[in-house]
Amino acid sequence: MIVGNEACALVEGSLSCVAPTALAQIEAMNLNVPLKYLVVAHEHSDHVCGFVTMKKQTPELILVGSQTAAEILAKEKVMTKFVMEDKVFGDVLHGLKLADSSPEMLPPEPLELDMIIQPNQVLDLGGVQIKAIPTPGHSPGSLSYFVEPDRTLLMSDAAGLGKSQTEIYPMFFYNFQQYVESLKTLRSIMPQRLALGHDLMVEGEENCLDFLDRAIAASYDMQDDMKKQLQEGRSPDEVALDWAHRMHAFGLFEIFPDDALLAYTNLLLKRALET
Ligand SMILES: [Zn+2]
Repeated sequence: MIVGNEACALVEGSLSCVAPTALAQIEAMNLNVPLKYLVVAHEHSDHVCGFVTMKKQTPELILVGSQTAAEILAKEKVMTKFVMEDKVFGDVLHGLKLADSSPEMLPPEPLELDMIIQPNQVLDLGGVQIKAIPTPGHSPGSLSYFVEPDRTLLMSDAAGLGKSQTEIYPMFFYNFQQYVESLKTLRSIMPQRLALGHDLMVEGEENCLDFLDRAIAASYDMQDDMKKQLQEGRSPDEVALDWAHRMHAFGLFEIFPDDALLAYTNLLLKRALET
């Protein structure tokens, strides 16, 4: 939640089952400026489905995202897949007692963005600015948001999943080269604070740069390992399974079903071999 002197923006929509809690938390903040924007960082189910619920409840909220994200979320086929994932993940969270109830399945309707934010465009909240930085690689329409004056970088999944400053699982689901280039771009901004899409925060410029360097290195390490295993004669299925085991052992992927983990690592293997 980004609070300015004139308006507030909620960056990242999470799952639909999280929306009631998020709205209650915002209410409890007792802000004297209204929530105006719902800001999409990237077009994946676990980052946008909460916005579906919020927009239904409060249609005047302005849903913002990249042009590419808008085009993808406007596809009924995409949203049909997303609402199914939203239900599956929501039920897993409910099972883990992290959500109050099993979520209703959302209708499989296209999600229309109200406003396209262009590369480097700034959303002014009054004394606080959010700048959109294209960071494709995890997904085609990924944006990171740089908040000034406090130099916080909201980077969603652009660096993959971070468990700590030193433990990072790369997620270059769309394009390996663009993913690495995006991380280099974020490094050049010299942020003071990083906020990742799945909870991790990194504080201080030195730690932020260290984290981004490690995220880049982790991507190359994964790519090198996958290529090496194939050269040693392992089949692509074996390599994908090996990395799915590592994904599971990483510890933050427990909300994802095992077959989803294997689908993710098959995709990572494909992307790793494209360059
Ligand atoms: Zn994602």
